[in-house]
Amino acid sequence: MDRDIVILGGGPGGYYAAIRAAQLGAKVTLIEKENLGGTCLNLGCIPTKALYRNAQILNTLKNIDQYGIYVNDYSIDIPKIQERKENIIKQLVEGISKLMEANKVEVIYGKGIFKDQNTVSVTLKDESQIDIKGKNIIIATGSKVLVPPIPGADLEGILTSKEILNFKDIPQRLIIIGGGVIGIEFATIFNALGSKVTVIELYNHILDKVELDLSKRLTVSLKKKGIQIYTGTAANKIQKENNNFVVYAQGKKGELKVEADCVLLASGRAPQVEGINLEEIGIEFDQKGIKIDENFKTNIDHIYAIGDSIGKKMLAHVASHEGIIVSEKIMGIQSTINQEVIPDCVFTFPEIASVGMTEQEAKNKGISYHTSKFLFGANGKALTLGEPEGMVKVISNEKDEILGVHIMGPHASDLIHEGALAVGKKMKADDISNIIHAHPTLSESFAEAILGLKGEAIHMVPSKR
Ligand code: FAD
Repeated sequence: MDRDIVILGGGPGGYYAAIRAAQLGAKVTLIEKENLGGTCLNLGCIPTKALYRNAQILNTLKNIDQYGIYVNDYSIDIPKIQERKENIIKQLVEGISKLMEANKVEVIYGKGIFKDQNTVSVTLKDESQIDIKGKNIIIATGSKVLVPPIPGADLEGILTSKEILNFKDIPQRLIIIGGGVIGIEFATIFNALGSKVTVIELYNHILDKVELDLSKRLTVSLKKKGIQIYTGTAANKIQKENNNFVVYAQGKKGELKVEADCVLLASGRAPQVEGINLEEIGIEFDQKGIKIDENFKTNIDHIYAIGDSIGKKMLAHVASHEGIIVSEKIMGIQSTINQEVIPDCVFTFPEIASVGMTEQEAKNKGISYHTSKFLFGANGKALTLGEPEGMVKVISNEKDEILGVHIMGPHASDLIHEGALAVGKKMKADDISNIIHAHPTLSESFAEAILGLKGEAIHMVPSKR
């Protein structure tokens, strides 16, 4: 048994685990059936954010006259958009490959399945097979698209998040089934590209895990931009009629029939747990993911699982952090992970980012809490950017500790990390308000929201006593 650690899957979970273990002196082999970087780099976070940037520029162009600039004409070159996206992916994937080499991680390209509890059998690209043995094995096989059980969901031409990324034409009308993060991100991208977008969401709100104040505001904002949103509505049949797709749904106001040239299924993802012989070697799992303990250990002592494969928070940065922690644990470092402090971002216009408790969660837990909101409309930097929409909302407890931070506005996904520090370190409002925030910055809005907890925000009209 010559490897200390064998890793199945080279996404953000697997490749972070590989590098950290190698840094700690382990002999590591990583097995990847497609491309290093996994869903995140190849089909998820990175390609969507490349397209998000296109959408952002288009949105700016649409409102460019507010800056005193007039652009008479512009056009969209889809092959160029695709080329730019592919080049970014290529650069990042090659970068990881070089990092693997530099860290002396052996990478084997092929599909791995368990042969026994210490051996992974790999079918290489040329169909030959090799057996790889490891003292420890980390499963990081990620997740797959969950196709909803709607009649017609398997019709030819219906898209998932994978196919839509490689669009060759901009659909005139696009129906998105699912108003979660992936669905809403694509809705805003294709809205900016000029599609007439309709979102059908089963729950009563889009982005149902996001602070209600923000998801409601975003809904209004998206509707103003022309995105049709049906919440509390169940899509129950898809049909092809006269070369178009027709989605039949049951909504609050009765039956709904929506027609479009494209349908995107964005109603969820499921852990990738099939086809690797988990059952045969006795690893416990179900459709929600591989079962693990607090050390990411499966029921078999030297086999671990991380990332989307365990079906908890399906986010790239969570998978990566788990990769680091699990390798440290295997190498004898007792690291811990704070599951309460996970920043969550939605790349819409405006962006949304959250960390810690929502107001609803505080209420449900019976915690006595305070909230404060500061609007970006009163922030100088947001006005200079021409992006005054949104706010920072903070939630604190009776001891003045910051429990949650929720931001909707420009660069929310970058601003959230001050909130993550505050929540993670159980900082009190005074710990933050005593730190000078530079002017003019968007971060001043966070400081003002914190001051607002005690009614001391400077750029907020005092509430009537
Ligand atoms: P994956 O990235 O899925 O990697 C698993 C790897 O294992 C894959 O490369 C796969 O080929 C390989 N593999 C599987 N089975 C085998 C096998 N038997 N043998 C060998 N190799 C195998 N998250 C964010 O945090 N931010 C975002 O903005 C974001 N945007 C997203 C947008 C979309 C459209 C999608 C679909 C996802 C997005 N995500 C985002 C989620 C993010 O991509 C995942 O949470 C993350 O990739 C999970 O990492 P992972 O390493 O667990 O799995």
